[in-house]
Amino acid sequence: MKVKVGINGYGTIGKRVAWAVNKQDDMEIVGVTKTRPSYESSTAIREGLPLYAAHNEDTDNFEKAGVKVQGTLNDLLPKVDVMVDCTPGGVGEKYKILYDKVGVKSIFQGGEGHALTGVSFNALANFHEAWGASSARVVSCNTTGLVRTLFPLQQTFGIQKVFASLIRRGADPADKKGSALNAIEPSLKLPTHHGPDVKTVMHGLDIQTMAVMTPTTLMHLHCIVVDLKEKAGEKEVLDLWDSSPRVRLVSGKDGVKNTGQIMELAKDLGRPRGDMMDIAVWKDGVKMVDSTLYYYQAVHQESDVVPENIDCIRAMMKLEQDNLASIERTDRAIGLR
Ligand code: NAD
Repeated sequence: MKVKVGINGYGTIGKRVAWAVNKQDDMEIVGVTKTRPSYESSTAIREGLPLYAAHNEDTDNFEKAGVKVQGTLNDLLPKVDVMVDCTPGGVGEKYKILYDKVGVKSIFQGGEGHALTGVSFNALANFHEAWGASSARVVSCNTTGLVRTLFPLQQTFGIQKVFASLIRRGADPADKKGSALNAIEPSLKLPTHHGPDVKTVMHGLDIQTMAVMTPTTLMHLHCIVVDLKEKAGEKEVLDLWDSSPRVRLVSGKDGVKNTGQIMELAKDLGRPRGDMMDIAVWKDGVKMVDSTLYYYQAVHQESDVVPENIDCIRAMMKLEQDNLASIERTDRAIGLR
């Protein structure tokens, strides 16, 4: 029997997670919610996903637009084993009360705080912490990106200290809201929240972060400095990442010099929606000075957390004990391997 999954908030993250769930052989989508009819609710219907109105009062809007819904979120909840909440940041909190009341497991996204669930998740670093949990939070796109490359370094060489500067995209490509069109805005509250967020997964890591928001929509770019405990060569580090899941080495020498070219590469690879779910690290942008490592990586904000949601479902539903086996299963099914 497949695990039954619902998506509350079929937006940027929700529609991608729904797609990835239906690619797996041990779970399936039984319903997704929207607040109003839109091209995204049509996408859900076209993809054969049962569509539900998020609230009772939304049903009229769907009816007027001639869009058939199967009921409301309250009708969907009794049909699901786990609800993946992909509503905008801060909204999930109020839904948690509802999920708990109905006795449905729930997964939240990086827009919610760690305190909401007490379990923050990354498949490589702390799969076991979500084992059988009733709720968990998949950490944000930036935190996921940092953990994907830092965790293997910590396991292999040990980490003394990390400093990362995050050059953040101002908005998602489809957003109307977001950063100024022609300005760069530093986060003035220092250090930024990204370091503490990494520590919700890699407990005890010494990490500090700064961030600036830039007028681009494509990806985030991280400039990272790591003091390793054990000396390592650049090749050793690159070989390590090359064998780490969901990390892709790219090269300026091959013409991949910027985030636009990484997005183009994702399309050339035939990735669905042109998504780059792996973290792209420039192999010719890696430098080791004594035991200090310098590198750049790019994070596709709309998609890197998608496979993590799948593994989180597996851990919470106790479908697979070994994290690497779950990661491999997920990635094979969605064409990452
Ligand atoms: P989004 O705005 O693209 O989608 C949110 C969806 O929730 C939309 O379908 C919207 O109609 C629906 N919604 C809004 N209010 C609702 C309500 N009260 N009840 C039910 N549904 C409601 O947002 P997103 O970018 O997909 O972000 C979702 C979560 O994922 C947030 O926590 C965000 O921080 C996190 N996240 C976003 C990104 C990103 O770059 N887009 C990356 C990683 C994590």
